[in-house]
Amino acid sequence: MMPFFFLPARLGHFMSHTLFIADLHLESDREDISDLFCKFLKNEARDADALYILGDLFEVWFGDDNPSEYPAFIATQIKAVSDSGVPVYYIHGNRDFTIGRRYAKKSGMTLLPEAKVIDLYGHPTLIMHGDSLCTLDVAYQKFRKTSRKWWWKAIMLSLPLSYRQKMARDIREKSKNKKQSVDLTIMDVTQDEVELQMQKFGVDRLIHGHTHRPAIHQFDVNGQAFERIVLGDWYTQGSVLKVTADHVDLQTQAFIA
Ligand code: MN
Repeated sequence: MMPFFFLPARLGHFMSHTLFIADLHLESDREDISDLFCKFLKNEARDADALYILGDLFEVWFGDDNPSEYPAFIATQIKAVSDSGVPVYYIHGNRDFTIGRRYAKKSGMTLLPEAKVIDLYGHPTLIMHGDSLCTLDVAYQKFRKTSRKWWWKAIMLSLPLSYRQKMARDIREKSKNKKQSVDLTIMDVTQDEVELQMQKFGVDRLIHGHTHRPAIHQFDVNGQAFERIVLGDWYTQGSVLKVTADHVDLQTQAFIA
């Protein structure tokens, strides 16, 4: 019999699991979010089989050529996770869909397409940011369609950095003036669109963020069971989804006092 002291010190190594986060909305003046995220990257993230960041890692992104210290600092923190042997994957959010290959490389993240089916311990699972599911927001979906075109991004990113910075500041001021109410008004997903996408990709499990309505929804279509897991945002706490072969656990983490 193997002596018990040969067991790994951290149980995390013992239980294979994958972690999912989204909607951190990092910005340099939110130290509480940054501190919790860094702690998460130095600890739990190191024990995972993989870390998936499903969009809106940053509150705003105006180009990989931003020379500020803050995004560079965050890149080194994420890079340390991938350097430790834990692959880190990224799907763009609506706030930071212009994150490019340069920043992804710097932070050791693999960029994924906007919707992707991954094999989670034998269970095919569809992952996405979730903004595309909010089909009732017609104006936004129209903007989304245009802004995801390569030429839109090319034009945007060719504007002078100072101009893009000013645009980013204006957007931030606007949302601050609304006192975060902007996030409460995010429309929820349309159930029809959820079912359409899940059937299109042939999955019975979907994981997404964006709506800031953390929950595990179970529903039936024609007698078949489906599951939709919504990750929470990090505005007032951390939100982490841990998936093992037979269990999903949507956890909330308090900011470091
Ligand atoms: Mn979003």
